[in-house]
Parts: sequence; C-alpha cells; structure tokens
Amino acid sequence: MIALKHIHKRFGAVEVLHDVSLNFPEGSVTALIGPSGSGKSTLLRTINLLETPTSGTVEIGDSKLVFTPTSKPDRTAVLGLRRQTGMVFQSFQLFPHRTAAENVMEGLVTVLGWSKERARIRALELLDKVDLADRADAWPSELSGGQQQRVAIARALAPSPKVLLCDEPTSALDPELAEEVVDVLSALAREGTTMVLATHDLRLAQNTAQQVVFIDAGAVVETGTPAEIFANPQQARTARFIQTLR
Ligand code: ATP
Ligand code: MG
Repeated sequence: MIALKHIHKRFGAVEVLHDVSLNFPEGSVTALIGPSGSGKSTLLRTINLLETPTSGTVEIGDSKLVFTPTSKPDRTAVLGLRRQTGMVFQSFQLFPHRTAAENVMEGLVTVLGWSKERARIRALELLDKVDLADRADAWPSELSGGQQQRVAIARALAPSPKVLLCDEPTSALDPELAEEVVDVLSALAREGTTMVLATHDLRLAQNTAQQVVFIDAGAVVETGTPAEIFANPQQARTARFIQTLR
C-alpha cells in the first residue's frame, strides 16, 4: 500500500497542503489534476520526501514514516523510503555527458553497487520497453524530447521502484512527441506499474488512470474514476476546472 495520511506542508508561514489523505492502490495509476499552484508537485514530492511534510504519515510498502512539527524520521529512513520510488520530471533532467544506456545504469551502479555489465543488461531491457533499443548509445543531445523523456522513464524504473512518480511528464513536449510518452506510460499502466502522475494532459489521464484526484488550493476536492471526474464531477469547482482542460 502507498498512502498519505493527514499531510500538512508549510513553506514558512504559508500552508500549501492542508490535511491531504490519499491511497494509491498497488498496480494502479492515479492522476493528480488541478490548477497551477494548487500543490500537485508539492504533493508528488511529499510521496518521495523531496519535500519534508510538516506533519502527517507517508507509507510505502513496509516503510511508514511519521512526521510531526517537532520530530522527523532520520535520514536513513528517509533515503530508504525514497529508494522505493522513481521520479520523472517535466524537464527530463538526463545527465548530458552520459549516453542513454549510461543514464539508465547510473543509479544501479553508483547507488545499488551493481557491476557495469549487469547494469547494462538491465538498461538495455528497459530501453527496449520504452521503444529505444536502437538508441542505447546515443547522447541526450542526439535525442528528441520525447526520446529523452522515455530514457528518463527507463532510468526511473531501473531499480524496480514500488511507485513511479511523474510530474507533468508530457507538458514540455510537442503533441506528437507527447503521444509517444503517453503510449509508453499507457503500456506501463497496462502491465500494472503503480504510478502517480501530476498532469494537465487530459489524454494522459484518461489513457492511464484508474483514479483521478482533483486538488485545489492545497486540498483534495474530489476523487473518483476518470469517468466520474471528467464526465460527472460532483463538485462545481471540479466541473469548472475540467472545462479549462478541454
Ligand atoms: P503547476 O501546475 O504550476 O506545476 P502545482 O500544482 O504543481 O502547480 P506547486 O508547485 O506544488 O503547485 O505549488 C503549490 C504552492 O506552493 C504554490 O503556491 C507555490 O508557490 C508554493 N511553493 C512550492 N514550492 C515552494 C517553495 N520551495 N517555497 C515556497 N513556496 C513554494
Ligand atoms: Mg507542478
């Protein structure tokens, strides 16, 4: 189980997440939607503890970390939980001086201590999965944005995380390149990869998600299936926001 319970997050005096509790069922995809500044990225970054919650509980598999304003889990516990996650960013963030395969291998070798030979075999398998088997030895600068993002997805999956977190994975891409990334994420979703994605991309949400969460002003307004949220939202605020996506 992956879950957030009663998460509050403050930046200085400003609280940007207000008592967020969500379950992210294993083997399923959750899309976080909401206006700019509503807290989607902060929420994603709370799951892997790139942001430290002011208070609340983050649970991934057997790790359950409790945060209060006066006590935080130690760094080892935080790193242990983070290692069960993989993250994909809007801006790809590949290492420019490493080939596609080396990007995927990097964490396996430096963090997990795998041999280069073993890591390369895993990297080639993953590049094949994202349809880039033939570009393994290309430099990031030789790849299109959609190809770079697919390498980033392969890299995030390399250590077999319990959950793949994607922050606006298609929004830096032209429509046809975004489509390649939607196709890859849809295939991963069909295989039962647990994912949480923040997105403005209606097609991505509709093609991948079993659960859609609408967030506004740092609070969960409504959670439902894509059909419920997109076709029959219960809250007026949700309905207004959905209009803006179409
Ligand atoms: P977008 O759709 O534009 O990506 P978002 O839903 O991802 O927006 P967040 O980036 O999570 O929104 O931001 C939520 C709120 O938290 C915003 O008001 C933002 O200004 C604030 N915020 C985010 N990061 C920080 C930070 N490091 N310091 C202070 N405030 C921050
Ligand atoms: Mg964001």
